[in-house]
Amino acid sequence: MTNNRTDASPPRAGGSKISPRKTKIVCTLGPASDSLEMIERLMMAGMNCARLNFSHGTPEEHKDVMNRVRKVSSIHGRSIAIMQDLPGAKIRVGDLKGGAITLRRGEVVSITSSRESAADNEIPIRQKNLIEFVPVGASVFLSDGLIRLKVISKDPGKLKCRCLNGGRLLSGKGVNIPELAHGFKGFTEQDQKFLEFGLEHGVDLVAISFVESAENIRHVKRLIEKTKPDATPWLVSKIERKEAVRNMSEIVAVSDAVMVARGDLGVENPVEDVPIIQKTLISECNRKAVPVITATQMLESMVTNPRPTRAEASDASNAVLDGTDALMLSEETAVGAYPVECVRTLDRVARSSESWIFSNSGRGNGRASNLANDALAGSAVSLSREVAANLLVCPTMSGGLARRISRERPSVPLVALTYSSELGRKLSIVWGATCLDFMENPEIIWGAGRSSSIELLRKTIGSKLISSGLARAGEKVVLARDTFEETRQTGDLLLTMEVQAKA
Ligand code: PEP
Repeated sequence: MTNNRTDASPPRAGGSKISPRKTKIVCTLGPASDSLEMIERLMMAGMNCARLNFSHGTPEEHKDVMNRVRKVSSIHGRSIAIMQDLPGAKIRVGDLKGGAITLRRGEVVSITSSRESAADNEIPIRQKNLIEFVPVGASVFLSDGLIRLKVISKDPGKLKCRCLNGGRLLSGKGVNIPELAHGFKGFTEQDQKFLEFGLEHGVDLVAISFVESAENIRHVKRLIEKTKPDATPWLVSKIERKEAVRNMSEIVAVSDAVMVARGDLGVENPVEDVPIIQKTLISECNRKAVPVITATQMLESMVTNPRPTRAEASDASNAVLDGTDALMLSEETAVGAYPVECVRTLDRVARSSESWIFSNSGRGNGRASNLANDALAGSAVSLSREVAANLLVCPTMSGGLARRISRERPSVPLVALTYSSELGRKLSIVWGATCLDFMENPEIIWGAGRSSSIELLRKTIGSKLISSGLARAGEKVVLARDTFEETRQTGDLLLTMEVQAKA
């Protein structure tokens, strides 16, 4: 289809309320950023989703932070999603004698299953029963992979290891053992407790660590159904283990969203494979219209510096060009010295990369299926280009059509009319989606053409867009409506309408 308008600068609808950036930004909140004032500053700089890392802090502390996020978001009328990140079976070093030890290449050390070390050359590991799952010959990576040991022998409760790469090891640092024998469970009892807490406090998304198979996600879905059947958080599969990379397609198929968790991914897998895994995973998510977050070391040097390295700017840009929905900041915002500057930096990099995408005539993502609503989403985006629309609007009960339209990467702003604030917050991680609570009678939308008139639909949507500041009178809107899943009574609808001033 020809493009009558140069897409290099997407049209701005009346709304200054629509962010000119489509890629979403997830910020991990921590001591550097979890005060009311900092949350507000991060939000003004462009944060779309707040991540609470349950590997650190107490549930009560997280609850206070959640309340602050909700408060700031309601004061400013902005939808911010809250993502609870469950630690999973993250293996950690216990308490070392004196808090730290220095390991030297060639030296022999022991790993024991205990909370604290009894000798200088002993590394305690907090998880019980771990040792029995580790085979002789396995590599043990400590401190984000900086230190590497090789298991040379095994006694009950003890692994003897030779140090291949040395370094300074602190208590509490992460441990990765890529060859860990199957059977070591990823979803722990502690995760379950945290999950119940998260559900109780209405988190929007729950990130599951160390997912290995689709069954892991189904298991968590069953738990939620049992413990709080009315809770429907989006489950975010963190892809970090080798098994997860192997089972990527089936995991994406059952996930509500996915995270390229490059920290553990790059220790559990050869680091040179990380860029290709990222591209393959993002492409698989795009095909299935599953939102994907690219995470970890995005702007690592900005933990201490006010400007990123050129390589970091390129990395963030490449993630956008790969098709990520969202970019995530970890330590940069949790403990760094420049949290707000980090968000501003990602905002600028994402916008610059997006304008390159549009000037290169868009980036329609391949689709995994060819359902009627896939075709509707594609047609809506084509039509919006043809008629040089200012806005694409889709009413959505489940978010499905919004995800599908987003997957087509339209240059035109996308407004999803949602029937619950919860869905609106979840869509905060979806590329290009701006959500508007739309609590009108669904019959106005889904009855149009049958029991109610198209005219009523145009008027209702037009005045809602004007009153919420998302459009001005005279602007052109392409509206897409799919079949109402509950009744399946109405068909798909695609129309171009002009926003009318209130009569
Ligand atoms: C990661 O490993 O990249 C990640 C996001 O997980 P965590 O921060 O929980 O280690």
